[in-house]
Amino acid sequence: MIMKKLVLLLFFGAHFLSVDAFSQEYGNSVDPLKLCVAIQSNNFISDVEAENALDRILSVIGASKRFVLQPCDNINNAVAISYKGVRYILYDKEFMNSISSGDNWGNLFILAHEVGHHVNGHSLDLVLYAAEAVEAETLPSRRQQELEADEFAGFVLGKLGASLQETTSVLNSLANDRDDTYSTHPSKSKRLLAVNRGHKKGLENDKNNYLISSNEFYSSGLNKAKIKDYKGAIIDFTRAIDFNPNNYKAYTNRGTSKRKLNDFPGAIADLTIAIELNPNVDTIYLARGSIKQFLMDSNGAIADASKAIELNPNNGSAYYNRGTSKMDLDDFYGATIDFTKSIELNPNYGKAYTNRGASKIYLKDYRGALADLTKAIELLPNDKYAYLNRAYAKNGLNDKEGACDDARKAKELGIDSSELILIVCSQDDGK
Ligand SMILES: [Zn+2]
Repeated sequence: MIMKKLVLLLFFGAHFLSVDAFSQEYGNSVDPLKLCVAIQSNNFISDVEAENALDRILSVIGASKRFVLQPCDNINNAVAISYKGVRYILYDKEFMNSISSGDNWGNLFILAHEVGHHVNGHSLDLVLYAAEAVEAETLPSRRQQELEADEFAGFVLGKLGASLQETTSVLNSLANDRDDTYSTHPSKSKRLLAVNRGHKKGLENDKNNYLISSNEFYSSGLNKAKIKDYKGAIIDFTRAIDFNPNNYKAYTNRGTSKRKLNDFPGAIADLTIAIELNPNVDTIYLARGSIKQFLMDSNGAIADASKAIELNPNNGSAYYNRGTSKMDLDDFYGATIDFTKSIELNPNYGKAYTNRGASKIYLKDYRGALADLTKAIELLPNDKYAYLNRAYAKNGLNDKEGACDDARKAKELGIDSSELILIVCSQDDGK
């Protein structure tokens, strides 16, 4: 008796397949299904991928996870079922593997379809049914439920970003278009219409929701980056990008977070995508250029800084960065021009004075260098490079005593200037 009920139940529960595969299967599936429910109910070994897939589906509808995913061999299907008040989705791993080709939209569709049965209240409770407390639905009513589950699945996949073709691919390969009068499942064309409807809804009400979600993750990522939790920030920025692949700010900040973690190629890749998405933001070029400079790609760095300047002629940092890259290429004259521009834009730019002073030493303009480095030390009293370079400037002006003082100060601040001290301080020592 119970066995008979289980047969009927399976007939109700085995939702997905078209009637052919289904009628072929159900007779063989009773025992495994029964076993799955009865034996494995206390021993759930969840397939991680299936769990992740379920999480993705539930993230769309915002439901807390009130389903148990149960791998179940040999049912050649996925089934929504309730048992002792717990909602199960049983699925056959091999079956799910067989329909996943390249991506997992097919699997997601099937799981979403089963979740659709649950959230729409279709799944029959095994215990109540066996106790004859509830009746199985009529065929027309079941077919209606299938369409509701299909629409739900289309909605979920649309929200998750699947194209209509990706969403319907599994139905196209598994369902058929025969007369459905005596079937639990509607004909393929009816099901495709339902999926279409759901998919369209998913896209419609979703553009805004997606943007909102993307911005929420983006803000959360910014907060994490602020407290130097760069790994956490990268995860949030990635979610922001998942929700809105055009979120160039998320790419930008994921890139700068990667830089903080010394992932330079990853950082450059992200900043490059950000630039492709929005080529008009000077600060993104600036960020990418500074990484290139760090990686000794001076020409690349100069190109990015120049682009930043083109977009925003008041970006003093871009002039400064370009100047330092020019120094790396021994273009000291060009460098001083850029540093002068950055000082014009920001008269308190201490490091620009330091580097302009250093460039002037290479150009043998020791007086100019002395003035710049003195100004730099005024603005940045602990700038060891300013002291070191001023020592060279003073040495160039034959002020050995002053050079010696500055060289010692540079050493005090952490620069190994022993050699310079030997040269410029020797006369003092000899006195
Ligand atoms: Zn179904």
